[in-house]
Amino acid sequence: MNKKGLLIILSGPSGVGKGTVRKELMKDPSLHLFFSVSMTTRGIRPGEMDGREYYFVSKEEFQRNIDNGNLLEWAEFVGNRYGTPKDKVEQMREEGKNVLLEIETKGTAKVLAKCPDALSIFLMPPSLKDLENRIRGRKTEPEAVIEERLAKARAELPLASKYQHVVLNDTVERAASEIASIIKTALGE
Ligand code: ADP
Ligand code: 5GP
Repeated sequence: MNKKGLLIILSGPSGVGKGTVRKELMKDPSLHLFFSVSMTTRGIRPGEMDGREYYFVSKEEFQRNIDNGNLLEWAEFVGNRYGTPKDKVEQMREEGKNVLLEIETKGTAKVLAKCPDALSIFLMPPSLKDLENRIRGRKTEPEAVIEERLAKARAELPLASKYQHVVLNDTVERAASEIASIIKTALGE
């Protein structure tokens, strides 16, 4: 029998670099890390693929998944809904896979209430100015949405203290390496 996989929550404001750091982390096969693909009602960005970054669904389909109890948690973020498919996460953990959830702060609280043994990590930008530069540099959102995401970030940053670990995303390699150490310690390695 496999040991049940670890549940890892990676949060942090939009544009801090969660996706980038996650991709770096997933290059390390020794972490046995699997990304939980969330469901969202937001539109697909250039370069994203349905089923890889997210399952892109209609508002109606998202509501059906809530009604059918398919989501471990879900939250509204700047006008769209995002949720974690429950069965997939459980199945991967039962197979001994360490599962990474990349979710915002409200969803984190819901997951921690249900799975108190989850490892929680908040990725922090060096400054708000750096965060703004990163969101703008990504060129994926119109100005109004960027402003909303920055306002949301200002509200989310103080919630970092609710997480077991706060990791500074100064460089992708250093942040990923710090998170890898945190995961290995949690795994008892
Ligand atoms: P998130 O998933 O948190 O919304 P992304 O991973 O999409 O953020 O990163 C947002 C932008 O910031 C991307 O253009 C990415 O290349 C850049 N970025 C990520 N980490 C760093 C870093 N440590 N230094 C500079 N730019 C970064
Ligand atoms: P984005 O639109 O930038 O991909 O994501 C917006 C925010 O939603 C990010 O903070 C991201 O981590 C979060 N998010 C993505 N998937 C989920 C999810 O399944 N549940 C919750 N609660 N948040 C999510």
